[in-house]
Amino acid sequence: MKKYYYVTILAVCAVILLQTIYIRSLYSHYIDENITVIEHALSISIDKEQHLRTLLSDRKKPQKHQYMSIKRMNDMSPQERDSVLRLYPLPPMETYNIDSARMKGVVDTSVELIAQVLQDKLMGNGFPLDLKSLDSIFTKETTGAYPHRFLLYDAEKKATDSISSQKTDASTYMSELIPIGTKGQQYLQVKARIPFFPFVKNEIWPLLLSLALVVLTMGCVGHHQTVIRRKEALLQKREKGINGIIHDLKTPLNSVVTTLGWLKSDEARASKKKAIELCLVEVKHLVCNIESLLITVRKDNKPLILKKERINIVYLAELVKNSMDALYHHKPHSIAVENRLPEKTEVWADSMYIENVIRNLVENALKYSDAGVSVKMILSTTNRWLQVSVEDNGWGIAPRYQKKLFQQFYQVPREEDKICKGYGIGLAQSKYIIEEHGGKIQVNSAEGKGSVFTFNIPLA
Ligand code: ADP
Repeated sequence: MKKYYYVTILAVCAVILLQTIYIRSLYSHYIDENITVIEHALSISIDKEQHLRTLLSDRKKPQKHQYMSIKRMNDMSPQERDSVLRLYPLPPMETYNIDSARMKGVVDTSVELIAQVLQDKLMGNGFPLDLKSLDSIFTKETTGAYPHRFLLYDAEKKATDSISSQKTDASTYMSELIPIGTKGQQYLQVKARIPFFPFVKNEIWPLLLSLALVVLTMGCVGHHQTVIRRKEALLQKREKGINGIIHDLKTPLNSVVTTLGWLKSDEARASKKKAIELCLVEVKHLVCNIESLLITVRKDNKPLILKKERINIVYLAELVKNSMDALYHHKPHSIAVENRLPEKTEVWADSMYIENVIRNLVENALKYSDAGVSVKMILSTTNRWLQVSVEDNGWGIAPRYQKKLFQQFYQVPREEDKICKGYGIGLAQSKYIIEEHGGKIQVNSAEGKGSVFTFNIPLA
């Protein structure tokens, strides 16, 4: 799949992920708010249910508006204290330790301790917690918004009783076991379901906006995809056209080569013969350039048809040297060929293409350097491989650019005064040709010091 498809999928996933995180945080905020409401309603319901039992135990009828006020004995007037002691004749030595009650996890505050002591008294007097009444108070407090189940546990924390306002046991919230009384005889628990629909209703605008954002992003990305695909199709069409034109350039040149060959064989004068031969070399070079341009630029991956023959690599290097000396006569330079080949080394390759590679490398060495550059072609062998190195003391290439060097149309960014005419296809072409020969090409370069381009191909 094309790279931009991955980028698009990634962008869409990122937007969906961000929106999901946003909605999740909204939802968890909604759940937290509802848990606070449930816990508040629960504590009020427990208080109210206890108060009802207190009234029952005192044989009083519960009245509509009743208030409970808590005062320390020390803060009471003597009259108040007398009336309280008449109602609840606590033996004076009955004391409760708030710290140990806290340690047991029964209560947190002294007010809670008082309530729990009252629970003890009510249970002792035969008025245990009434689940039914608690359930109806809770339902009223929460206006029936939360389907729930109350569970009662014994000292071993085994469920002994339960009452439920819902059929299923599905719950979003489950309270801890709440102790009833200080003695750890009974525990209460509530499981409630926080409905989803009010969340959707309350957050309808943020949800819709979020959805619109996702759709909008996807639409924009989709539009870009279409534009990219259209442009790509246009580019392919243009590329095809240009390839066709390049291909058509080759045909007349081939007939020029044939004619020049015929003229050369017919020419008796040595000076003219030499001039025709030079022309022939240059036209052949042009044909070769067109050929390798075609195979490099068109991406149909057609294998290169190599005409492998026994080649004289030293002769090819000398040929390139002479041609480049002539081409770069305006720029002071020196080109040397160093022959380190063992005697009678035989190299089998396509001479036209190999000459083309050497030409590319030497021309680059002359192009990307200051006047006075010295270029050396070193011809050698390692095991069963031919090795050709083209060394220069030119501008060199920084390591960060070296990786992309053999890619099509890649050009090393240079300062304004060092920009040379080029298309970034010479090295891609060379790499292609060398790989088709079963070899490898590599670079070793240091900025400001120079470069060494080396290729290896099998000798046969
Ligand atoms: P072109 O020369 O047409 O731009 P090439 O594929 O031959 O394309 O080269 C690609 C890039 O590599 C060039 O733009 C140049 O900057 C860099 N380069 C190639 N050879 C050398 C060299 N011998 N010294 C410094 N830079 C080089």
